[in-house]
Amino acid sequence: MFLRDIYNKNEQVISFEVFPPNKNYNLEELFTTIKELKSLNPGYVSVTYGAGGGTRDRTVEIASKIINELKLQSVAHLTCVNTTKDNLKKILDLLKENNIQNILALRGDPPVGQTNYTKEIGGFNYAFQLVEFIKKNYDWSIAVAGYPQGHQENKNLDEDINYLKMKVDSGADVIITQLFFDNDYFYKFRDIALKKGINVPIVPGILPILNFNAINKIISLSNATIPDKLFKKLEKHQNSKEDIEKIGIEYAIEQANDLLKNMVPGLHFYTMNKSKQTIEIVNALNKGILLK
Ligand code: FAD
Repeated sequence: MFLRDIYNKNEQVISFEVFPPNKNYNLEELFTTIKELKSLNPGYVSVTYGAGGGTRDRTVEIASKIINELKLQSVAHLTCVNTTKDNLKKILDLLKENNIQNILALRGDPPVGQTNYTKEIGGFNYAFQLVEFIKKNYDWSIAVAGYPQGHQENKNLDEDINYLKMKVDSGADVIITQLFFDNDYFYKFRDIALKKGINVPIVPGILPILNFNAINKIISLSNATIPDKLFKKLEKHQNSKEDIEKIGIEYAIEQANDLLKNMVPGLHFYTMNKSKQTIEIVNALNKGILLK
């Protein structure tokens, strides 16, 4: 089923992101996790695409198994980093052979050690070009990334949303956002996007904080800020893994319920390949709001 049809129902859609484990790990554990997440009846599971070469092949393999064996809709992420149009075409053809028809089209981050993104000769500078390319060659549904607090390379949120509109005008039919911890950023972002004529579903991405030591990494990678009150609470309990997890889960439930109440088309959970915590959160949500 196409992503655009998944979001065209009158229900709010729950979906999950997983990432391919390093090549030294077998995939069994991940598939156990996905099978457990399946009990929550997600609209789809998306599979990230590695920044470097290491896990890239695994994205197709995992997305394929999700749709063909677990019988769940899958979305494959794809980036333009260190690759050419011809290589991207090969991956897209492979996805097609594996019945995958939903793509999250991304530019990707500069490779480790580089500060600026530079395209390969015969590659793409921006995600909108990948969207155009997929739209022209495949009859698929395409999602793109949105940034409620702006993208780290562009301090001007308004301009960044203009570029988001370019991705939608190029053929994207769903926006999935970067994680954030303060819903007001999402609501402001959604209002600006609507005013600019972006009419596709804008799906908030949610990351539960489960580890105090990961906070700095989360902030530096995502550009998201943590509300003072939440940070102080986490800081106070930083020596207890259990307390941090409890606070993170409670906060994610509160955040997600507020978003549901404010008529989001769905919630996309960054699961970090963990099912137990994700199940606890999703089971505590006030689902069932009809959107139409
Ligand atoms: P773009 O939309 O191309 O934007 C990149 C930058 O260029 C922005 O600063 C934008 O303002 C600017 N820009 C855009 N268009 C133009 C233009 N025409 N002219 C001038 N400037 C322009 N990364 C991975 O490596 N693998 C993943 O699987 C992955 N999954 C993700 C999933 C989600 C939901 C999100 C939100 C992000 C994900 N990322 C992933 C991270 C993403 O690759 C990075 O944030 C990357 O730096 C930007 O990608 P983009 O597709 O948003 O780029």
